Amino acid sequence: MLRPGADPENVQMSDVLCDFCGAAWTADLPLIEGHQGSVICGRCVSVAIAETGESAEAGAGPIKCRMCLEERDEPVWVSPMDESARICRRCIDMAAEALEGDAETNWRRPG
Ligand SMILES: [Zn+2]
Ligand SMILES: [Zn+2]
Repeated sequence: MLRPGADPENVQMSDVLCDFCGAAWTADLPLIEGHQGSVICGRCVSVAIAETGESAEAGAGPIKCRMCLEERDEPVWVSPMDESARICRRCIDMAAEALEGDAETNWRRPG
């Protein structure tokens, strides 16, 4: 998401915040873009992977993923900062692949 008050015509890296933890984009913190300006940072992707392992339970009823905006009834990761920020497993996987494929980041899947 964009930092509140940021100029959409002149967006700086520090104006782009992770929807899931609120961290600003820096050279050391890769961000992956979803739909409608939603973003997730590499740190949150790592936590999401770790917390949606084998034991993850399906949510109660369909949830709307912040990244793909689709309603899904499957394990999701919910931001500890904002309960309305949720990401589906497919988007977690896609973000992880994008991060792994980016030679400029040293991001690695946990585990
Ligand atoms: Zn984050
Ligand atoms: Zn999704």
